[in-house]
Amino acid sequence: MSYKEVYCTDCDEILGKYSTKYFSDRDIDEMVRQYCSLHIKEGHRISIRQTNV
Ligand SMILES: [Zn+2]
Repeated sequence: MSYKEVYCTDCDEILGKYSTKYFSDRDIDEMVRQYCSLHIKEGHRISIRQTNV
């Protein structure tokens, strides 16, 4: 199955993993804004990468 992994480059931490089957890019974008707001406020770089597990 295909996943999108939300990753904080500055914390070196995976913040979330979302199945692309259930979540659109827009959904994931929305969740990143909600759940990663602390990281974003600190100026951390959040990257979203595609994984196939
Ligand atoms: Zn961070």
